[in-house]
Amino acid sequence: MSDCIFCAIAARDIHGRIVHETEHSLAFLDVNPLAPGHTLVVPKDHYARLDDLPDEISEDLFRTVDELVPRVEEAVDADATNIGLNNGPAAGQEVEHVHAHIIPRFEDDGGNPIHAVAGKRPDLSDEEMDDIESDISDL
Ligand code: 5GP
Ligand code: ZN
Repeated sequence: MSDCIFCAIAARDIHGRIVHETEHSLAFLDVNPLAPGHTLVVPKDHYARLDDLPDEISEDLFRTVDELVPRVEEAVDADATNIGLNNGPAAGQEVEHVHAHIIPRFEDDGGNPIHAVAGKRPDLSDEEMDDIESDISDL
């Protein structure tokens, strides 16, 4: 897409600190890192949301994340990582080109677990949980 910053990085039209490339995926450092080593993994082609990815590209993306995590952790001597995707604007996605965040974490870094991303916790009855379970389930 012509005005997409991540497409421009993938095309090498603008500079990115690219650290890894596969057939379908590209990994580069986040320009405004939440921690040293904060890395983004994106499909080379433009897809806005996770559900838009063809299977082959999705598999490549998640395999790439999996391969990069230990390398990122080792590079910055991290104790752990949070891995996450803001999947849609309501979830905080600002760049509408799928990207997985790899965020290195350190003992006592003052950060939070992934549970901190959501809003007010819902108070769901067993019946409501049953309905949600059956709406999602394909078993
Ligand atoms: P989002 O909120 O969409 O999940 O996160 C977008 C991420 O992209 C942010 O962490 C932001 O710092 C990063 N970002 C935005 N523009 C650029 C850019 O031009 N280059 C790089 N490397 N990262 C960017
Ligand atoms: Zn794009």
